[in-house]
Amino acid sequence: NAARPLSDLSAEELDALASTQREAHAAQAAKGTKLDVTRGKPSAAQLDLADAMLSLPSATKDRAGTDVRNYGGLSGLTELREIFAELLWVEPEQIVAGGNSSLTMMRDVLVDLLLFGAIDSPRPWAKEDKVTFICPVPGYDRHFGLLEDLGIEMVTVPMTDEGPDADEVARLAASDPSIKGMWIVPTYANPTGSVVTQEIASRLAAMETAAPDFKIFWDNAYAVHHLTEDEAKSADVISLASGAGHPHRAIMFASTSKITWAGAGVAFLASSVEQVAWYLQHLGKGSIGPDKVNQLRHVEFFGDAEGVRAHMRRHAEIIAPKFAEVDRVLTEQLGGLGIATWNRPTGGYFVNLDVLPGTASRVVALAKEAGLSLTPAGASFPHGDDPQDTNIRLAPTMPPMSELTEAMETVATCVLIAAAEKLGGTPTKE
Ligand code: PMP
Repeated sequence: NAARPLSDLSAEELDALASTQREAHAAQAAKGTKLDVTRGKPSAAQLDLADAMLSLPSATKDRAGTDVRNYGGLSGLTELREIFAELLWVEPEQIVAGGNSSLTMMRDVLVDLLLFGAIDSPRPWAKEDKVTFICPVPGYDRHFGLLEDLGIEMVTVPMTDEGPDADEVARLAASDPSIKGMWIVPTYANPTGSVVTQEIASRLAAMETAAPDFKIFWDNAYAVHHLTEDEAKSADVISLASGAGHPHRAIMFASTSKITWAGAGVAFLASSVEQVAWYLQHLGKGSIGPDKVNQLRHVEFFGDAEGVRAHMRRHAEIIAPKFAEVDRVLTEQLGGLGIATWNRPTGGYFVNLDVLPGTASRVVALAKEAGLSLTPAGASFPHGDDPQDTNIRLAPTMPPMSELTEAMETVATCVLIAAAEKLGGTPTKE
């Protein structure tokens, strides 16, 4: 009966299913194994790929002869900026190589916008009655937490396979001057895995906005993080916006957090030359220059853009089998039952699992009882509130394969129990 939709089952059949699955659940809980698929972290084997960096850099000077051990060079090493300019489809003069976190750069830009306003702002954003961001959902939880922390309001639009719902974004942005910007993860989005199409990117770059200083935070965290040979090429949103008369609309972010080391990589910001100067002018009040030793280490390790691409293929060799394993277990256990859908991403770090509406938090609670940590239900929505209680983000990269299999079997068990309870009318136990 593996492929019979659960909604076709009688109350007795649902009861029987629930009790079988509860036995599996109890057995897993009794094992006492701790499993965790909450965060998109690289595994130790992935971090090991960059261990040659432990003995780099071999030189103390960059190409221009500047001593990287000393102060200075706020915009980052030219040779590293050239490599990532090529990978991110921008010009070297449009990109900054900074510290180890792109999230920190996003926060810096938001704080600068609030305190000073952008070069195209009538006034600092903090002087507006309110500031609102458009948030495609499901999206990246830390984006939403950052806005919440800074008092920026959030309005959601649905994420589609082709990127954010552009009609809805255009309608909102045109109608409300408090709407100052939006998040987009254009390549292998966290968590849906979708890639923004050229067409959607063009529309967002060109749309009329009520705010004259509307910003697209184009978080290209997974620009080169392909899992298959079908490599997504992200749209050149900065040129598209510029060509449409909005040269300062798009700000791109990226980092090597999931290329080299998540805690000791290099982050990048790219935009119009003028907006980059605006960013550096404010940054320069709080920094005399970035960690150029780490930047040179990255330059020596990669050599060139092709070096980065080759390195990413080695990551894919490690993690693509994990994504395949998630799909295998979920398909075997949940396929055809009409109680769950999930994506098969071709890049990035996440699998997006949608369960029966009203059961996601029950699934997460059941998993916890069985020793499996899942990202809290609703985490991919502003304020942690998934109105349908349907979405669960799975992050398969960190656990070793054997643990991942066990974790996915446990997920399937919990999804089955929650669905049987829901369809059978059993009161949900919290
Ligand atoms: N953006 C997205 C979409 C992410 O998924 C992550 C990491 N989970 C980050 C940014 C964090 O980037 P960084 O390590 O450069 O701060």
